[in-house]
This record gives sequence, structure tokens and C-alpha cells, in this order.
Amino acid sequence: MKVLVPVKRVIDYNVKVRVKADQTGVELANVKMSMNPFDEISIEEAIRLKEAGHAEEVIAVSVGVQQCQETIRTALAMGADRGIHVVHDGDIEPLVVAKILKELVDKEGPSIVIVGKQAIDDDSNQTGQMLAALLGWGQATFVSKVEIEGDSIKATREVDGGLETISVMLPAVLTTDLRLNEPRYASLPNIMKAKKKPIEQFTPVELGVDPSCRIEILKVAEPPTREAGVKVSDVGELVDKLRNTAKVI
Ligand code: AMP
Repeated sequence: MKVLVPVKRVIDYNVKVRVKADQTGVELANVKMSMNPFDEISIEEAIRLKEAGHAEEVIAVSVGVQQCQETIRTALAMGADRGIHVVHDGDIEPLVVAKILKELVDKEGPSIVIVGKQAIDDDSNQTGQMLAALLGWGQATFVSKVEIEGDSIKATREVDGGLETISVMLPAVLTTDLRLNEPRYASLPNIMKAKKKPIEQFTPVELGVDPSCRIEILKVAEPPTREAGVKVSDVGELVDKLRNTAKVI
């Protein structure tokens, strides 16, 4: 079976994000960009499914600007077999990405799509769920363990207060949580090999999808700065402050 893995190009998670002076968004000029960390976990899981003999091909897909090719190359260097780049220059929102992925699923026929649980730039947590709905497929979100059992997947999900184990019929959409695996680093020979792997290109319109946005960002603001703390001399003073100043006990 084939596994399709969307990989989003986002600001690197180590970068301190700065809000633009006019509050219309965040600074992207000269900022290091990388693959969304949850998508690295998805690629790793897809490669493990291939290594275990469950999958024959892993396809990495990215939607966005020309530099998304670098993100796809990273996925190819980790072990994905080929890439698809859907080229789009402007803003793109989860519903549009989900519609594009649906068209690619119809074209490629994967049995599993492994989506990140959220992109660390927009924190939407929507694309996987919307894709499952558009396809009419089952979904297992926030998965921390995946086992293939015949024509279904046994998935462990991270939920409030514990773990839930569910069985989902294939084909299915999975969204990956942090503890699913530890993504591998691409070795130098694999980075070289990745340069020769094919990347197909489409535009949203070629796939029959209107890329225009329905969501308008009205304002982006820094979180309020935290006030300085106070030092207390003993436990008695701490309890007094918690009771009478902070009023939390
Ligand atoms: P979101 O719903 O925006 O939080 O994104 C969740 C996941 O959807 C990401 O981790 C990616 O797997 C996928 N995704 C979202 N946007 C894109 C994109 N432009 N290109 C490829 N994958 C994407």
C-alpha cells in the first residue's frame, strides 16, 4: 500500500518568532524555515511502516511557495520515495490544503494519510480532520502508537487523562502526536540520493481546487509580558501571599 504524508514548511521551532510592527503577521524575512516537527514524526512513521513491510511507497506532499521543495527534499532524504509539490504563493488555509490533499488521494490511492496533529505556525489542528471528512474515511487523531492489523489500524491516542486505544478500518487518516516516535536524521548518502528522487508539481487550479482564503487575519499580537515574581523568606509568607494576595488557596 501507499502512504501519503503532507509536510508543511514552517518557521523553525528554535526561532524566536517576531510579530510584524503593523501586527498583520509574523516576520518571515531571513528566518530559518524547516519541516513542521509533527510532519517529521509522520514521515518517520511512514518509513517505519515501509521497513516493516506494510507499505510499498511513501509520498511526501507540500503545498506552498517554491522553497517547499527543500522541505520535500528533507522528507526524501529521510526515506520517502517521491514528492509532490503543489505550488501556491499566497496564504493558504487548512480547508484548501485538505481539498488539495483529497484530490491527491483520489489520484494516488494511498491507504493511509499521516498528517501532523498541528502546524506550529497556525496551530489550527484542522487539516487531518477536514481531510478525513472530505474523503469519508475513518480517522485516528493524536496517535502515539500505530499497529497494522490486517485491514485495520490499532491506534493509541493521547487524550485528556490517559490513553485511548481504537481500531480504524483502512483506508484511514492518522494525525501524529509528539510521542509516536523519534524522527531519524538524514544521512549524507541519503541526502545525496534524495536529490535524484522525483518531485511532481501542480497548481491548486490544476487539481480543481480554488485556493482563495475564507479566513482573514485581523491582528497578530505578542503575548502580554509576564510580571516579575517576588522572593519570599519562608513557607509562612508564601502561604500568606497565595491566600491573601494571589487569592488562589
Ligand atoms: P494545521 O491543520 O494547519 O494545524 O496543520 C496540520 C497538518 O496538516 C500539518 O502538520 C501538515 O501535516 C498538514 N498541512 C497543513 N498545511 C500544509 C501545507 N501547506 N502543506 C503540507 N501539509 C500541510
